[in-house]
Amino acid sequence: MQEKALNSPGFEIDPDLVITLTHGDPIMFEPFWKEEGHNATVTISGWEKMSYYACDPDDICWFLEPDFANEVLRLHRIVNNAATNGCHIIPGAGSTQLIHATLHALASIEARRHPVNVVSAAPYYSMYSDINSLKSALYHWAGDAATFKGDDNFIEIVCSPNNPDGMIRHAVLSNNAGRRVHDMAYYWPHYTPMRGPADHDIMLFTMSKATGHAGTRIGWALVKDTDVAREMVNYITLNTNGVSRDSQVRAARILKVISDGYEFPNSNGAGQFFHIGRHLLADRWRRLRQAMEVLGKFSLPRFSTEFCEFFKEHAQTYPGFAWLRSEDESINDCGDFFKSINVQIRNGRLFGAGPNYVRISLMGSDAYFDGFIKRITSVG
Ligand code: PMP
Repeated sequence: MQEKALNSPGFEIDPDLVITLTHGDPIMFEPFWKEEGHNATVTISGWEKMSYYACDPDDICWFLEPDFANEVLRLHRIVNNAATNGCHIIPGAGSTQLIHATLHALASIEARRHPVNVVSAAPYYSMYSDINSLKSALYHWAGDAATFKGDDNFIEIVCSPNNPDGMIRHAVLSNNAGRRVHDMAYYWPHYTPMRGPADHDIMLFTMSKATGHAGTRIGWALVKDTDVAREMVNYITLNTNGVSRDSQVRAARILKVISDGYEFPNSNGAGQFFHIGRHLLADRWRRLRQAMEVLGKFSLPRFSTEFCEFFKEHAQTYPGFAWLRSEDESINDCGDFFKSINVQIRNGRLFGAGPNYVRISLMGSDAYFDGFIKRITSVG
């Protein structure tokens, strides 16, 4: 209701209306799927997908839908963003489940001591630091990788492009005995120039950020080592006894629509998702930069233009989040400033940075984004 009102032409934004920009909920891609995604509709009959097993029960990943695996491989081939040769594909209930499955697997099989230290360079995705809530005896959060002083008993999570700041990241700990997990949720052409296929032992992707289908709760891991893959599957078996087959079918169809848009342009009626997604994000970044300039209190990251192997041209970076730094000495805690104008954001502290930083999501609905820009402009 509120969002509808915010969207109406000439609507004067009620200053008491709270605008929520805390979550990376990717609603901004909804118009694409409404207008272009008719072929993404899926029907599953009552008798279909009843079994627990999606393939041969003796396969390493017995809950992997073959169509989903094929479409994952196809899209990676088209975008050329990940080396998939010889990798096991493991679906998960979002990459959230896969992060836990990966930590569990690496800590179970490879560590000599428990708990293993899990680190990631600050500013890091706030969810990593929440892993202690699950009280695993195998691993625990040990903070910023850049200041980690321990020995080789660590797992470093490398998020690239990084949530919250959109930067391309590499592992910061050089000790080869430690283990690395690459969270590649945002390594897609609408967010960042494609620099060729990423090639790491464990890479995590998710529908939530690739296509905007967070509610489908499907992510996938590309895993080179068979023992690690087996142990991840074991974790998911214990945790949820497989991954929704219905969701994998839907995810496969959505990935197919994107791939068809590139492999058979003009023939299936679907537009080119990454082109349109990049256009939407570019527009939001343009308006955000303008509004922040008017406000004059915060700076935004600057990204250099790079050649994108996918678009075959020099391209800009348009992250799904904006990482704002306070440039106004009168603002000690950016969170307070945004609270005072009724905008909910995530404080920099949650990401291992100071309160002079905040993260705002740019992936929400047009209504919230438009409302945010209006409000910022009106107080500037
Ligand atoms: N990794 C990163 C870097 C993310 O930003 C997110 C979502 N915010 C996830 C993983 C988890 O995504 P999901 O569980 O929806 O797949």
